[in-house]
Amino acid sequence: MAKKAQIDLEKCKGCDMCIAVCPKAAIHKSGTSNKKGYDYIAINLDLCNGCGACYIICPDCCFTIVETAGSAR
Ligand code: SF4
Ligand code: SF4
Repeated sequence: MAKKAQIDLEKCKGCDMCIAVCPKAAIHKSGTSNKKGYDYIAINLDLCNGCGACYIICPDCCFTIVETAGSAR
């Protein structure tokens, strides 16, 4: 089992704090606006190692760290 980040894109305000702290450079802007009009972020799950840094830093509690099937990287 591997841990991965998941995002609630409708909570995201596009502040980019998670992008700055991700050690795997797995987070990028989606280029798409959510219902609030913010350019929310997307996660490259091939790069994400589930470290939780994004979960800790996000002021809007957008992230969940989940167990996924598949091997850890
Ligand atoms: S830290 Fe949270 S609110 Fe800010 S861009 Fe990342 S997911 Fe969105
Ligand atoms: S859990 Fe860690 S590696 Fe994955 S997106 Fe968040 S900060 Fe990046």
